[in-house]
Amino acid sequence: MRIILLGPPGAGKGTQAANIVEEYNVPHISTGDIFRKNIKEGTELGKKAQEYMNEGKLVPDELTCGLVASRLSEDDCKNGFMLDGFPRNTFQAEYLDRYLTENNIGLDKVINIEVDSNLLVERACGRRICKNCGATFHVKFNPSKVEDVCDVCGHNLTQRPDDNEETVSHRINVYLSETKPLVDYYTKKGVIANIDGDQDINKVFEDIKAALA
Ligand code: ADP
Ligand code: AMP
Repeated sequence: MRIILLGPPGAGKGTQAANIVEEYNVPHISTGDIFRKNIKEGTELGKKAQEYMNEGKLVPDELTCGLVASRLSEDDCKNGFMLDGFPRNTFQAEYLDRYLTENNIGLDKVINIEVDSNLLVERACGRRICKNCGATFHVKFNPSKVEDVCDVCGHNLTQRPDDNEETVSHRINVYLSETKPLVDYYTKKGVIANIDGDQDINKVFEDIKAALA
């Protein structure tokens, strides 16, 4: 299964990615997670990416595209993958197309999770993540059993530095101008499945499974 998860910040891509990984056993490739790992490890890439991420801007294509191509060439992607947060603009989508064509790889589905913009700020600002295992929670919509403790691995939960109202609003605007045009791009290719993301987390996953069946 070769899948792209598309949708605005806070739509539920990471949350559904965890379900998809479990069901279809494909590697989860999140460019945001890769950048956050590099920031944590203090790499050169992390230092460069951090400036853009803190302001809610896209990290430049020259730092992002090669990274994804090299990740996709790893052995665990031979039988499938799930991209989350990439591509995020037309340049990246065309880059990915070239990579896939050159390597004779087809895309099965682009899962487009749709959520109204006015719900996204509350979703992102209430998000809590586990830096240890990557699990995602929400203080109101998907709370951990014990406040600020990860249900999966027991580590403390944290808030992403870019999950504040000002940065989230900017990220939504970046989504609308840079990323949303990809809905059209993949609709024209006939590979898109539009999923209503304003439903219970389990129901969203049911709809995704139906789209992938
Ligand atoms: P994305 O990866 O698209 O930015 P996340 O999966 O991290 O989004 O979800 C953003 C926040 O919204 C998280 O705190 C998550 O727990 C919560 N969330 C995800 N899906 C839903 C849903 N269907 N209903 C309510 N809250 C949700
Ligand atoms: P995410 O984890 O997908 O919410 O991404 C968090 C931040 O990482 C974004 O606001 C961008 O600054 C950066 N980022 C993630 N993926 C990309 C990408 N494909 N292109 C450019 N920047 C990205």
